[in-house]
Order: sequence, then C-alpha cells, then structure tokens
Amino acid sequence: MAIQRTYSMIKPDATARNLTGAINAKLEAAGLRIIAQKRLWLSKAQAERFYAVHRERPFFDELTSFMSSGPIVAQVLEGENAIAKNREVMGATNPADAAPGTIRKEFALSIGENSVHGSDGEDTAKEEIAFFFSGLEIVG
Ligand code: ATP
Ligand code: MG
Repeated sequence: MAIQRTYSMIKPDATARNLTGAINAKLEAAGLRIIAQKRLWLSKAQAERFYAVHRERPFFDELTSFMSSGPIVAQVLEGENAIAKNREVMGATNPADAAPGTIRKEFALSIGENSVHGSDGEDTAKEEIAFFFSGLEIVG
C-alpha cells in the first residue's frame, strides 16, 4: 500500500472537553503523521459547504449547527494506507457500535457529537484537504 494523505477534523464536542491531545496521541500511535494542523471556528455557511454532500439528509441542520458551535481542529494526516487506517482508529459513526480502543468508543458522546471526522476515499481526501489547507501549510 502506498503512502496516502487524508483529511481529519477534531469536532467541537472534543475541543470543548480538552481532548485534542488525547485524540492526536491515538492518531500518532497508529502511525499517522500530523503534517498540517490548525484550530478554526467554522461559520454555519462554511459547515454547510463542507458537508454539502449531506444536504438532503434529515440531520443536515443538526450537523452543521453542531459543527459551527465551537472550535474544530483541521488536520492533514499522512501514512501507509492513511485513509482506511484513520477510519479504523476513529471507529464506527455511532459510538455504540464502535470497537474498543477507537476514538469514538472512548470519547464520542452520540452519533452526532462523535468527536472526529475522517475522509472516506481518495477523491474526498483531496477535496477536503484543499478546502482547508494551501500547499504551503502542509509540511510532511
Ligand atoms: P464523518 O463524515 O464525520 O467522518 P462518518 O463518515 O462516520 O463521519 P457520515 O455518514 O459521513 O459518517 O455522517 C457525517 C456526520 O453526520 C457523522 O459523523 C455525524 O456527526 C453526523 N450524523 C450521521 N448520522 C447522524 C444521525 N443519524 N443523527 C445525527 N447526526 C448524524
Ligand atoms: Mg463521512
């Protein structure tokens, strides 16, 4: 498997509870390198743009209100098979279904307030990284 890059985001429920370092420790322990990182507070419109793919889903307003309710940490992760590896470390969307030791099992509050986001494929990883970072900000 080749070295890949993926987009990761620590969500407002986790920044509010001072979990940025604990989540980063799990990412790094899995062999993912944090090669770009910044803390931002998204507007509702920015959250709606980022999650546009979900705009027809019943939870769209709840999701975008939550994602603009406090700071997030935007990251680029790099490593062997990084997209799938990050999804594995994150755990299932619903923390009730997440495997032991995963970020969502240990930290998520609910299916909505589930602490982290991770790209789900190569195309979305490229788009999501470009949404948040310029090439100058990514330092492998
Ligand atoms: P993410 O895209 O954040 O990495 P995911 O790929 O595991 O998560 P998606 O199906 O893409 O899950 O949903 C995007 C986000 O929308 C979820 O992470 C969660 O915050 C929220 N969400 C999903 N399903 C629900 C639901 N039934 N009720 C409320 N919020 C939900
Ligand atoms: Mg998703």
